[in-house]
Amino acid sequence: MLQLICIAILMIAIGLQTVHAFNEKDNNELEYEYINIKDMAQVEVANKEDNSTIIKTLMTGLKLENVEEVEIPSIPREASLPTIKSVAEPVVPKQTWHLPTEVGRITQYPSYWHMAYDITSWRGTGETIFPIANGVVSGIYTDSAGALIVTVLHDINGKKYTSQYVHLSRYAKDLYVGKPVTINDSLGQMGTTGYSTGVHLHIAVLDCALFDPNDPYCPDLNGFFRYGKMRINQDFIGLGSVVYVPPSWEAR
Ligand SMILES: [Zn+2]
Repeated sequence: MLQLICIAILMIAIGLQTVHAFNEKDNNELEYEYINIKDMAQVEVANKEDNSTIIKTLMTGLKLENVEEVEIPSIPREASLPTIKSVAEPVVPKQTWHLPTEVGRITQYPSYWHMAYDITSWRGTGETIFPIANGVVSGIYTDSAGALIVTVLHDINGKKYTSQYVHLSRYAKDLYVGKPVTINDSLGQMGTTGYSTGVHLHIAVLDCALFDPNDPYCPDLNGFFRYGKMRINQDFIGLGSVVYVPPSWEAR
């Protein structure tokens, strides 16, 4: 018995509504609650039996708005330092992150097991991947499963962030570690290399400097994952603001 529930993230939205979508397994029509239809073409639902999550595409005639860039509407909840009990303003700088693709749809959200967003595009490997902010390429590597990965280090008002772009089908020409990149420079093409079931971008954002031996949090990949899980537990979702843009991202 497949029981499907909307995950909590959808419940924070304003004005829940109900739509119908098909369960491909048994072709039953199901009802889903979903958030603002302009903001979300898909819902992530959980299978209670095995806790896996799947994405259901809502059958809608969406009219989507174009946006030029995404400004973070609220400051990410930062970790409270254990020794500081302060109600002072958060120190996270106001910042603007850009979408990593021209077109896309979020198919998976961050969780303790998946500290990233998965983004698909109808363009498939034709979708170019861009940095979410200006920065410097800090890593070009493959993981043990063969995923092509690029990381970019960002310095935003003195605060270091790393964005990680995974499963690329190929790297951009002339990409090298240390290369300064802007939001308009290609990092490569969307793909499905490595542990992946389809063409998509897996993008993680953490507030640390991956591969920087002086970074106390993520000097290497182990640190990156360890730190990422800690930050997810602290409700840091990095690129989270981007989920609020319309799902068809004519945004660059
Ligand atoms: Zn992923």
